[in-house]
Amino acid sequence: MKIIKTGDCRVSVGLCNLRCPYCVHLEEKTENVKPEDVVKRLENCKSVYIGGAEPTVHGDFLQLLSELSKKGVEITLKTNGFLSHRINESLPFVHRYVFEIKGDFDDIDSVAYLSGLSRERAKKYSESLLESIRIAKENGKKIRVWFRVIPGYIDDVRFRKMMDRIGKVDEILLYQFLSREDWDKPVKGLEKPEFSFVKELEKIAERYADRVIVIGEGGRG
Ligand code: SF4
Repeated sequence: MKIIKTGDCRVSVGLCNLRCPYCVHLEEKTENVKPEDVVKRLENCKSVYIGGAEPTVHGDFLQLLSELSKKGVEITLKTNGFLSHRINESLPFVHRYVFEIKGDFDDIDSVAYLSGLSRERAKKYSESLLESIRIAKENGKKIRVWFRVIPGYIDDVRFRKMMDRIGKVDEILLYQFLSREDWDKPVKGLEKPEFSFVKELEKIAERYADRVIVIGEGGRG
């Protein structure tokens, strides 16, 4: 599989089936590493966070999960949720899922723009993401939903609507879109929100999750 980096009990996997315009991971260098060698690099880790770009697109992704699981490692998987059949297959190995939400599931033009997909693919993506979350919830997995807060794409009305579709989860993470080369590539038309705007969504989020995390230039709360 293509790996961006490993370390601190985290694996960052290369390649993705989306093309988000602000993504900094798509252009990162990768190296080919066999799943068994990834596992060796994670020796002594009791829990591992696998994210990236997108882990589920790799043919040997399940082998990595299986080998970590055999060693008793607790796995957190961060995914865009597009490949719901892969979420299904990963259930025996994954303790917690982190689903990144791009935008209002019903606003296909926004989802298409924020994911870099055609309208047709964006519609399929929205449906698959909701299906992936449903699969994880119905199988009793811990769930964090991860929102990149970009003005014009997430506001209080849209946020409530999205969370009504998702339902109650363990954690919500609200991340301030930073528009910075090292974090979220600046893109014309995508503005950085005020940190106070992100904090306002926190109050709504508390109705839908046991724990809410807010991250941005104002720190982590
Ligand atoms: S889903 Fe994540 S990794 Fe994939 S293109 Fe979008 S931001 Fe990048």
